[in-house]
Amino acid sequence: MIDFKAITQEYKTPLYIYDFDYMTAQYNELKAAFKGRKSILAYAVKANSNLSVVKHFAKMGSGADCVSIGEVRRAFLAGVPAYRIIFSGVGKTDDEIREAIQKEILYINVESEAELGRVELIAKELNKVSRISIRVNPNIDPKTHPYISTGLHDNKFGVDLSSAKRMYIKANNSDNLDPVGIHFHIGSQLTELQPIRESAEIVADLVRSLSTINIELKFFDIGGGLGIKYDDEVTIKPYDYAQAILGCLNALDLTILCEPGRFLTANAGYFVSKVLYEKQNGEKKFVVIDGAMNDLLRPALYSAYHKIDVITDSKEESRPVDIVGPVCESGDFFAKDYPLPPLAHNDLVIVNSAGAYGFGMGSNYNTRGRSAEVAIEDGKVRLIRRRETFEDLIALETEFLEK
Ligand SMILES: *Cc1c(COP(=O)(O)O)cnc(C)c1O
Repeated sequence: MIDFKAITQEYKTPLYIYDFDYMTAQYNELKAAFKGRKSILAYAVKANSNLSVVKHFAKMGSGADCVSIGEVRRAFLAGVPAYRIIFSGVGKTDDEIREAIQKEILYINVESEAELGRVELIAKELNKVSRISIRVNPNIDPKTHPYISTGLHDNKFGVDLSSAKRMYIKANNSDNLDPVGIHFHIGSQLTELQPIRESAEIVADLVRSLSTINIELKFFDIGGGLGIKYDDEVTIKPYDYAQAILGCLNALDLTILCEPGRFLTANAGYFVSKVLYEKQNGEKKFVVIDGAMNDLLRPALYSAYHKIDVITDSKEESRPVDIVGPVCESGDFFAKDYPLPPLAHNDLVIVNSAGAYGFGMGSNYNTRGRSAEVAIEDGKVRLIRRRETFEDLIALETEFLEK
């Protein structure tokens, strides 16, 4: 049990708390699901990019799936070896590509023909060979929220099958490109296996067809996307997930690369705020807390559901309330019509499943400093990011600062 009261007394609110032991257990369960097969789990850094979190996974042998050169630098700083770092994303700048090639990461995940051309040109200028994989868009409906669906031709991600084949041939004929992998990632918060299986079949067929023209790939990169329980979702078991993927590969001798983000960190995280006031507008009851949408954007952005717990002495009956923050937007809410008992000033409101796409999507909107982040490991609590101060917020507005 996490002692939210004691921790928030020491570190104040709003506060992110991450259970590192939970992350370890999730990592081990997924890794074990691929037992007997060469596999690398490359943690998707964007889910929670705190250096201490990335380091925690690196110590267990995890790689890193990065979507900007900033994330690549975080991975290096956190101790992820170059040969386990992947760089994905639809819009890489020349500078980012150059640095990724110079750092000799495992591969650059290419998402368009135009990008393949840039990578080749930059590798040539550097007199290097860039390892690449190509992100295939299998045009499969992942049956998740449209904002986190990525594997349909309507989405901006990846390339269609025939373009992919053309790109592999081009890469194979280039002196500066080495096609080593193939990649697909059809969406996030996936709770159905069938779309994953169908995508893996399609992509495995492409690997076989490339093999007949002597393009032999080494890495079968299945992306991330494994869903978690926010509420009462029925999720995919890691073992079934692995079996579904392996079932598509048959005799292909490929190393599986898996890029879990949410699965590893979401349910390890808690976002804790204090109650400021309760208020009532007509029939509508509100609980105003000191955390806000600038701390946790998911409810505002995707109408995401997060389970809420409270720590209170209140023994009264629950009634439906909206839990809202101080930011000047009607979208600044954590839950609507959520059953809670009457709360008092300084009672704690705990937003569950906040360890992924929480802190990282934060902002300084309304000139609010970002929350602190703490880790719990082996029963010990430590600060892994201090709370932002007003001085931090204005530090780059140099016209006003003394030299
Ligand atoms: C975001 C992302 C992931 C991680 O997705 P989760 O749903 O958090 O597992 C993995 N791979 C790529 C390419 C991504 O963009």
